[in-house]
Amino acid sequence: MGKEEEIARIARRLDKMVTKKSAEGAMDLLRELKAMPVTLHLLQSTRVGMSVNALRKQSSDEEVTTLAKSLIKSWKKLLDASDAKAGEQRSASLASPPSKDTSEAKVHSRKRPELPKTPSTPRMTTFPPTPVTCDAVRNKCREMLAAALQTDDDHVAIGADCEHLSAQIEECIFRDVGSTDVKYKNRVRSRISNLKDAKNPGLRRSVLRGAIAPQRIAEMTSEEMASDELKEIRKAMTREAIREHQMARAGGTHTDLFTCGRCKRKSCTYTQVQTRSSDEPMTTFVVCNECGNRWKVG
Ligand SMILES: [Zn+2]
Repeated sequence: MGKEEEIARIARRLDKMVTKKSAEGAMDLLRELKAMPVTLHLLQSTRVGMSVNALRKQSSDEEVTTLAKSLIKSWKKLLDASDAKAGEQRSASLASPPSKDTSEAKVHSRKRPELPKTPSTPRMTTFPPTPVTCDAVRNKCREMLAAALQTDDDHVAIGADCEHLSAQIEECIFRDVGSTDVKYKNRVRSRISNLKDAKNPGLRRSVLRGAIAPQRIAEMTSEEMASDELKEIRKAMTREAIREHQMARAGGTHTDLFTCGRCKRKSCTYTQVQTRSSDEPMTTFVVCNECGNRWKVG
């Protein structure tokens, strides 16, 4: 208490010196201040720092300005320390504000009551839930799709829910087509025939395993659904078509070097085509000009 009055007194005297523009006796006052244990509270209540700073700015006495500077510097440290503390408190309060704790608790308490619902609701065992329809045509199509999925024992081994799957597939087809007209029926029929195909168990298994999603099987083209064997045949046919196209374009070279295996005549046209990678030898395609027989050499 006495210190506060003393500092306030010094501050007033310093202010007077600044007003009078006379720093006489300033050094004694500054030394007094330096000897006193000034606290942040004292600085704030007396505002002596402002008085000292005003003197420092005005004075031309190097001794005065140096001591004033050192006093201000030491007091600034008090302020900085208190700012840092306040900052820590601020960041500490930001890190764990009571409101956040309660909101987190709310999230948890909101989540928890929902959890027991899942096992207690039997329909939630499959996700997404089985779409429901009252349409007789659609339900019949679902039955047929389910039967197609159950063509052999794969569905048992895989543990697939065929009724759920067929309902999803049918739902996707219905949503895609938008009605149960001819387009819808053709789409369902083509899925069924491909899923039932004994030569194409891979497709059925993929659907049962979920490797092909209901949405995907619902929209696949016949080509996409085809068995690997059929795909190979198609690919080969495509390759053959490309070859023929290449031959037609090239026109071929007329030759009597080849004898047709069918008609035994020697009027042929041949074309050389790079069928595989460029470093492999060319394949020679020969067509008999008499009977149209085709074969390849090399
Ligand atoms: Zn021939």
